[in-house]
This record gives sequence, C-alpha cells and structure tokens, in this order.
Amino acid sequence: MGVKVAKFGGSSVADAIQIRKLRDIVKADDSIHYVVVSAPGKRYADDSKITDLLYLCKTHIEHKIPYEQIFQVICDRYVSTEENLCVDVDIKSELEKIRAELEKGATADYIASRGEYLNAKIIAAFLGFDFVDAQEIIKFNEKGKLMDDLTNDLIGKTLKNHEFAVIPGFYGEKLEDGAIKTFSRGGSDITGALIARGVNADVYENWTDVSGFLMADPRIVSNPKPIEKISYMELRELSYMGASVLHEEAIFPAKAEGIPINIRNTNRPEDKGTMITADLEVHENQIVSGIAGRKNFTVIAIYKNHLANEKGFIRRLAGIIEDHDMTIEHLPTGIDTMSVVIDNNVLNGKLDEVVEEIKYQLKPDSVDVVEDMALIATVGAGMSARKGTSAKLFASLADAGVNIRMIDQGSSEMNIIVGVEEKDFETAIKAIYKAFVG
Ligand code: ASP
Repeated sequence: MGVKVAKFGGSSVADAIQIRKLRDIVKADDSIHYVVVSAPGKRYADDSKITDLLYLCKTHIEHKIPYEQIFQVICDRYVSTEENLCVDVDIKSELEKIRAELEKGATADYIASRGEYLNAKIIAAFLGFDFVDAQEIIKFNEKGKLMDDLTNDLIGKTLKNHEFAVIPGFYGEKLEDGAIKTFSRGGSDITGALIARGVNADVYENWTDVSGFLMADPRIVSNPKPIEKISYMELRELSYMGASVLHEEAIFPAKAEGIPINIRNTNRPEDKGTMITADLEVHENQIVSGIAGRKNFTVIAIYKNHLANEKGFIRRLAGIIEDHDMTIEHLPTGIDTMSVVIDNNVLNGKLDEVVEEIKYQLKPDSVDVVEDMALIATVGAGMSARKGTSAKLFASLADAGVNIRMIDQGSSEMNIIVGVEEKDFETAIKAIYKAFVG
C-alpha cells in the first residue's frame, strides 16, 4: 500500500473541533503515515493566529512592554485543546519553558516555531502517533539556507524508524549551532513537501479550508470554477502571481520526485480538491487553467534609437539594478525600447536613484516611469498549441476599456502576462475570465 503525507494548515488545527476532523480524516485512510501540522490558526474571521501572537510576545519584550496577557491567551488555547482532547502532554510545563526562553531573549524564530511544536505534541498524542521534531530532520546552513540533500537523507533515515508520526511544520535548525530557523510565513507547506519527498510518498495531501484552487480570485470573479487538475508548472506561475493556497516554494520538493500534491478541504473531506501533477493536460474546451495577478509594480521604460544594436546594453541595465540590490521581475523588450518591471517592495523608495543612474550610464533618448502597475497572468498548458489565444485575450481587455501597458509571454507559451494600471486590475481579470471561461 502507498504512503501518504498529510499536512494540515492553521485553520484545520485551530482547536479541538478541527483536530477531531483531522483525526477522522487520518484514521479513515491507512496510507496516511506522516502528518505535518501548522500552529493553531484562526477559528473565526477576527480571531488571532497563534504564530502572530507568538511574534507579538517577542516584539513586546523587545520594546519592554508587558507581554504576559498575550502569552496567557496562547496558554489558554493550548491548555483547553489538551483538556478537550483528553490527552496529557504536560503542555503547561512546555509553556513555562517557552516563557522562560522568552524572558531570556530567545530569537523570534525560536518563539514562532513553538506554535507548531506544541500543536504537533498534542496531535501526536491524540492520534497515537510518534512525535518527531522537525529540528532533527530539517537542517539549514549558517546563512539560513536549507541544506536540501542532508535534509532529504535525514528525513528518509529517521522516519524509517517511525511507522506513523506527526511532525511540526514551519521550522528546522541551523546545523552549525542548533539554533531554530523558520521558513517564511506559511512555510509548513514546505515542511510537508520535504517530508513527502524524503519518504518518497505516493501523494502529498495538503489539507486546508478551501476545496482547492479556483480559476480566479473569488473576491474579484463571483463563483469561479474550481481547478480539478493542474500541472506543477502552471501552478507555479499562478502562485507566483498571487494565487495563494499553497506556499509557492512547496511545489519544488514534490516536483523533484514527481509526487502529486492534492489540495483538500478539512471541512469538506468529500470534495476531491485540486490535484497537482507533472502532466500538462490540455483540454479541448478549456485552454486556460487559471488567472492570477498582483498589484504594486513599477515599470521603467527606456527608449533609445538602435538600442537593439548596442552591445552590452542589457548587461549594463541589469548591473544598475543589481548594484541597487534589486531583482527584476520582467524585462520586456522592443526594437528601440527596453523596460524593467520591479516589485515596489523591492524598489523600496529608490526609484529616483535608479532612474538617474540609468540616464547617466545608458544615455537613453527618454525614460518613462509607470508606477502603480498590476501584472496579470493568464496561465494554461493548452495555450501554446492554440492559435488566437493572445488575440482573444487582448480583445477582451480592449472591449472592457483596459489599456495594456506591457505584454510578456514566457517562452513556455503557457503564460501570457499583461501589465495594466492598478485601477483596471479587477476589470481586466473579470474580462479575461469571461472571455476564456464564461
Ligand atoms: N504557522 C506559520 C504561519 O502562520 C506557518 C504555517 O502555518 O505554515 O505562517
């Protein structure tokens, strides 16, 4: 029988009610051997996530503001879950240890990681599974970079000795000094993918509070269709552009071993969710798999006659961006024009400096800056084989009165990115959805 790894996100492990649902899911499927859990998330819309509260304790201490009340909220949640599930993992003394570490000035990474640590302890006891600390099997180097091969080896070797185990998500340790290091926010998805790869799982199930990916953001398009099947490559493009359900980095370990990722809903286990696999499926009547976008970009458009014949132009332009410690999001080019698209968070107030440097070093005829740009990706494996896709896309935007400021088609031809002004973002997504999905 195959082996599955099931990761449960914050809202799926937010309290005893949710953890009981988790138990029903795990116990109904003998092939689920490894369970990865997040820290308790929100139980209702304006509830707090334990991870946020833990970070808050740390910042309060840093600013010498009393943190006890916040810490008490954290304690109460764990104690009530432990009691409610009738397990005994001595959560109170675990909490006391964390309080002592907080007082001693423990790092933010250590404090934040305790959210998943405590939850995994409780859930392991409740399921009757072993508890395996992520610290033992997920290792980072001194620069905080994941040591991929070592981690993979450790996971394989360690979990061989545990037939059924619960592993806390989100963190590992630095090899050199044993300090706890977390992934970026939402990183338990990455832990789940690493575990799935390490044990060579047949499926990586990612349980959350939605029944998979939707073809567009439901806050923009009403009732968008669910995505039943999608390839890693398509999903990578969509997640990068803002479709959030799964941490964008979680795709890589699963993809490396060709392990399918199944996004499932803890509150509706009967739904099949979205299956993410290596195959690029092209559907006869559906060329687009999904539409996603992000706001908050700046385009610097550089015009210079015969730019295409000028040697080293791209290198010098890229050098200026690199010297300012920035990354380029896109680099659309024309005959006498070249544009750089930069994320505003990356630009971080240095726009004028960069433009001045471009003028000084590249001597362009003119430079145009468009701030407040949004990028929208229309993604679909079927697009490359189909004539007229871009014509349809651009016509839909023209009909909706949206001015396209930039076009970029990846060489895979499964993604067309358009840049529009932020004010047109929602209109553009609705128009594209209507044109391709209906
Ligand atoms: N608890 C962490 C967060 O809130 C990690 C996770 O849930 O994946 O970001």
